[in-house]
Amino acid sequence: MDDIIKVSGLSFKYDSIDVLKNISFNLKVGDYVGLVGYNGSGKSTLIKVILGLLKPYSGNIILFGKPQEKFNLWNKIGYMPQNISLLNPVFPATVEEVISLGLLSAKKFPKIITNADKKIIDGALDYLGIADLKKQLIGNLSGGQQQKIFLARALITKPELLILDEPSNALDSTSREQFYMILDELNKKNKTSIILITHDVGQIGKYASKLMYLEQSILFYGSFLDFCNSDKMSKLFGTDSQHIICHQHD
Ligand code: ADP
Repeated sequence: MDDIIKVSGLSFKYDSIDVLKNISFNLKVGDYVGLVGYNGSGKSTLIKVILGLLKPYSGNIILFGKPQEKFNLWNKIGYMPQNISLLNPVFPATVEEVISLGLLSAKKFPKIITNADKKIIDGALDYLGIADLKKQLIGNLSGGQQQKIFLARALITKPELLILDEPSNALDSTSREQFYMILDELNKKNKTSIILITHDVGQIGKYASKLMYLEQSILFYGSFLDFCNSDKMSKLFGTDSQHIICHQHD
């Protein structure tokens, strides 16, 4: 089974307003997809519908070979949402507690953190170079530090698919580079599949292997090479925009 996501004929509306129209695509094991599109083009909504956080208007979603509604996706999918900055600054949880939520959500009963789990949490903190933050309150950390904590929470169950919504927003350039290197390693060494929603169209080609361009419907889905060589895409976006996406990709 190579396809871990199979979406067909998917539509979504907020009230009666079309947000996603007739979306169909497959994502294969090991794919690293950069999901791009202007603000409001439906990227976050698409992810939320795939994850079952929003109900589609029509269409079909198969995850790891099973209909989405019958699938306990938190065992296999790690999700880092966009609006970390909306976190209540006095939210009274420590870094350790926030990361342990990632483990708890994937557990059946009893939902408790064991000593073995604590070691896994320490391992994740070490891996991301943030062991010293373990006992800190999450609300006291910088945006970039919080982003790493939420990445740790998404990674903690060793998911087969990692979905990240605009992760580089809160990061300075060094942290951003580190962040992308971690994703690269997970993708190459562990074959973790990745969907990365990003505004960073000039950089994404350095990291991702595929591009999905969304504007309510999918305007393009395929390899960067195909995107860059496509006359249809040059006509659609203009050669300048196409060049911005393509010129950093080696
Ligand atoms: P993107 O992630 O590409 O910026 P979104 O998926 O967040 O786009 O939004 C897609 C469209 O849905 C936008 O027009 C946005 O205004 C609208 N939208 C998003 N969330 C809601 C909501 N909770 N209620 C109504 N409309 C929404």
